[in-house]
Amino acid sequence: MKITIIGGGAAGFFAALSAKTHFPDAHVCILEKTSKFLGKVKISGGGRCNVTNATFNSRLLSENYPRGEKFLRKAFESFNAQDTVNWFESRGVALKTYPDNCIFPLSNESQSIIDCFLLEARKLGIELQTGQSVEIIRKTANGFEIETNQGKHTADKVIITVGGQPKSTWFSAIETFGHTIIPPVPSLFTFNMPKEPIKALMGVVVEHARVRIEGQKLVGVGPLLVTHWGMSGPAILQLSAWGARILAEKAYTCSILVNWLDEAKEDAIRQEFAQIQKTNGAKMLQNHNPFPIPHRLWMYLLEKNGIKPDVRWIDLAGKNANKLINTLINDRYEVQGKTTFKEEFVTAGGIDLAEIYPQTMQSKLIPGLYFAGEVMDIDGITGGFNFQAAWTTGYLAGKSCGKEA
Ligand SMILES: Cc1cc2nc3c(=O)[nH]c(=O)nc-3n(C[C@H](O)[C@H](O)[C@H](O)COP(=O)(O)OP(=O)(O)OC[C@H]3O[C@@H](n4cnc5c(N)ncnc54)[C@H](O)[C@@H]3O)c2cc1C
Repeated sequence: MKITIIGGGAAGFFAALSAKTHFPDAHVCILEKTSKFLGKVKISGGGRCNVTNATFNSRLLSENYPRGEKFLRKAFESFNAQDTVNWFESRGVALKTYPDNCIFPLSNESQSIIDCFLLEARKLGIELQTGQSVEIIRKTANGFEIETNQGKHTADKVIITVGGQPKSTWFSAIETFGHTIIPPVPSLFTFNMPKEPIKALMGVVVEHARVRIEGQKLVGVGPLLVTHWGMSGPAILQLSAWGARILAEKAYTCSILVNWLDEAKEDAIRQEFAQIQKTNGAKMLQNHNPFPIPHRLWMYLLEKNGIKPDVRWIDLAGKNANKLINTLINDRYEVQGKTTFKEEFVTAGGIDLAEIYPQTMQSKLIPGLYFAGEVMDIDGITGGFNFQAAWTTGYLAGKSCGKEA
């Protein structure tokens, strides 16, 4: 049995290692277009590679995928974040979990992951070929014919792991098999706000913010960072992922509403104001910021509402109090454009999951054809979730592909 994997990235390696482990007699080969394997793994997580996330409950883990949640919930029953940790640690790659649940190699070097994969592949006898850009795949009576820039190959089973390819003609190649492609759009980006004066506060971080797109239910929760071009941080990246498709339709122009106080509601803040007026009424607003937001932001919000900073708390009433409350929990900003986050992005869209079996990653249309990784319509928020999807789907494709059809 010859199993050929197209694409030597995260999902491709995991699929190859799984295939050779489950079917030791099979000939397993990876064809990679570039001169180096695992290029994205190398640069991932700022060169540290956030391999997974310490969310060990499969259902909770699946909730971190704006696209693919249901599909992955089934897949995680076979290989989840705990399996990832065990897989690497049993192969000598020590991992470390950070307070935000992100898991990195203890070495803090993505190279540890690459070295592990290359060593394992060589130990198992997987054929590794670089400089092989696959251009055409054809189904034949007995299997597949693969044409690359270097020549022809044949295979009994094929696993496609070419990654998210927004500009590629690859998707049209896959469409020739009858597969539906959900149009690719970018996910995980920060918001540009060229007209918003809040940019002057660049560097300000609010630890627990909640952001939503006006008129939509989607939210991003967590730290929010003001940048010199607009807003970034986990809350914004999360919202960009959940809203990837809506934001693309709006050409990245929309209004967002920020609750600087996480989930706080109007009544609670009104009560807090009343309490401060009783206990600290003589203090000036500029000297008494009762909220978990930086002083610079507090001063900015006062100014935004035309409230003089030397007003005493006891004198804050009527319209001014209402405006300030509204700004604290419903602060409106205009987004005009996006910026890629540290060059870290994923593609929303890809092969329609309705046409793939979630337990095996096999195409429902072409027996013997499998998919894994970002080429499918799967993407996660930041935090190691995208690699986890690559490991899980690669593992399952490899585990299933050697079985007789
Ligand atoms: C800068 C950056 C940092 C990231 N950091 C993280 C992180 O820390 N944690 C996390 O979970 N996610 C991270 N991600 C996302 C993560 O890297 C991807 O989700 C993951 O790599 C997807 O794996 P894949 O194997 O599907 O695709 P890829 O890793 O993109 O691999 C696809 C491979 O296929 C090859 N290929 C393409 N076309 C052909 C062809 N025609 N013939 C042969 N080969 C082909 C490509 O050259 C590539 O090697 C990051 C992404 C970026 C861009």
